[in-house]
Amino acid sequence: MLLNSNPLRFIKTGSSLYRFARSFSTVQKRICIVGAGPAGFYAAQYILKHLDNSQIDIVDKLPVPFGLVRFGVAPDHPEVKNVINTFTKTAENGRVRFMGNLSLGKDFTVEELRNKYHAVLLTYGAEKDRQLNIPNETMRNVISAREFVAWYNGLPGFENFRPDLSGSTLTILGQGNVAVDVARIVLSSVDDLKKTDITEYALEALSQSKIKNVLLVGRRGPLQAAFTIKELREMLKLPNCKTTWREEDFQNVAESIPALQRPKKRITELMLKSLSEQSTSTGSVGSFLPIFYRSPVNVIGNDCVEAIEYTINKLVDNKAVSTDEKETIGTDLVCRSIGYVSTNVDKDVNFDDRKGCIANVAGRVLKKALTGSDSTIDDIEDKYEKGLYASGWLATGPTGVILSTMNNSFGVADLICKDFQNNVIRATEVKPGLQVIGHQVVSWNGWKAIDQEECRRGTEKGKPREKIVSLEEMLRIADGK
Ligand code: FAD
Ligand code: NAP
Repeated sequence: MLLNSNPLRFIKTGSSLYRFARSFSTVQKRICIVGAGPAGFYAAQYILKHLDNSQIDIVDKLPVPFGLVRFGVAPDHPEVKNVINTFTKTAENGRVRFMGNLSLGKDFTVEELRNKYHAVLLTYGAEKDRQLNIPNETMRNVISAREFVAWYNGLPGFENFRPDLSGSTLTILGQGNVAVDVARIVLSSVDDLKKTDITEYALEALSQSKIKNVLLVGRRGPLQAAFTIKELREMLKLPNCKTTWREEDFQNVAESIPALQRPKKRITELMLKSLSEQSTSTGSVGSFLPIFYRSPVNVIGNDCVEAIEYTINKLVDNKAVSTDEKETIGTDLVCRSIGYVSTNVDKDVNFDDRKGCIANVAGRVLKKALTGSDSTIDDIEDKYEKGLYASGWLATGPTGVILSTMNNSFGVADLICKDFQNNVIRATEVKPGLQVIGHQVVSWNGWKAIDQEECRRGTEKGKPREKIVSLEEMLRIADGK
């Protein structure tokens, strides 16, 4: 294949003939990356640049790439999705092979990969949501942000999720950027959303939505809110939506401003400004109500949620500590947005159940039963699984934006390159890579066929793309049928 792709190199000069012969005599360093999200693509990009003679397979359980960039990032934030252009360049490099529709834990094991590659990098993200573990959490109309986001973004399997938007009040528990994404999508005008790549069925459901009030409830105070300034600004500027703060949540907040670091200072000033300008006018269609110092302790309702009971918290050493006081606030729909969590898909891999991520130190996967704080073992071979690494949300836990995921993955990819260069990993024997028989694997060209069809359907509706949600349909299109 090398010869066909560059035949001139073979006949041009004596020295290039020598270089060609030498590269052929060296065993290809074969690396498998499991997960085609930002962590996987950024690691591949780094390895391509820094490790000669390396060949990378990027394997994903879905027929389509890009992970949460496609299925998490909000449809009204198209600029964030521009990273897809960089990922596409990486995927189209001749040393990279994309293999979609192959699931770790179902279609292959980590052990199989370790036999077939010199190095394996796990980047399969975090696909479950954290639970509150309070009574009645599974009551009807208590949903998770992960499900809601998967539904509006077209993750296969969520097309029939159908959240009940018939009541007037949605309570979102948690104050991170995912919570704000959900609030913004629910309170945005459908006319604005229809120009995005939001799924058609979600658009239809949102156009029928009766939700007017969105409560965003946090267990700590304004100074500890996890959302960031850009996202708050968007809420404050949302057309036909009024933000209302509770005055009592801001006691002593102004006084703490001088001691704050710049990003915290700016967002706190913005909250205070918005609070000082808030009026009692009722002209808006929707209302956004951030509420602080409340921890949910019970979901109240018969068959369906009617209210949430909260303890009122105070802050002790920056932590939420409940007092004896309680407050009950009515609601029609509850959306838990307290973070994602990774799962262990292979029993042979050391998984830290407490942290909800692969047990690792700076990306090196620890041997079974060892923890990061095991300082008694110095020998790298005794401590870590040779040639096995993890990066992205699977390794760090489910926090951080694409940029921080990139930095983490570049760091782990650097470690992999150095481990090859320092002979921690020896590429002395030929490794074949995954060879799959009797199962449809989606190639990069297969994804391009799906992409083209989605864009074509989108153009017909005046939107960037209409996502295909059925796995069967994706596979058919990828197969050229
Ligand atoms: P993921 O993106 O989750 O990728 C994991 C990949 O692994 C997926 O493709 C998945 O299909 C695959 N996979 C899973 N299981 C298996 C398996 N068993 N076998 C094979 N493959 C598997 N950051 C921003 O900077 N801006 C934003 O606007 C933004 N919005 C966000 C919105 C939401 C709702 C969420 C949850 C996050 C958002 N983020 C945003 C954060 C960003 O998405 C993450 O930092 C980033 O996606 C993490 O990358 P990752 O590769 O670790 O995981
Ligand atoms: P997050 O930022 O970690 O926020 C989680 C929220 O849940 C916090 O308010 C947290 O409160 C709260 N929480 C956690 N456990 C709780 C419990 N038991 N009871 C009550 N509240 C609880 O997580 P996320 O919103 O899922 O976002 C994940 C990452 O993706 C973040 O880094 C985020 O910035 C990023 N992201 C970015 C964008 C964007 O850039 N536009 C969009 C979406 C997501 P405490 O602070 O008190 O723990």
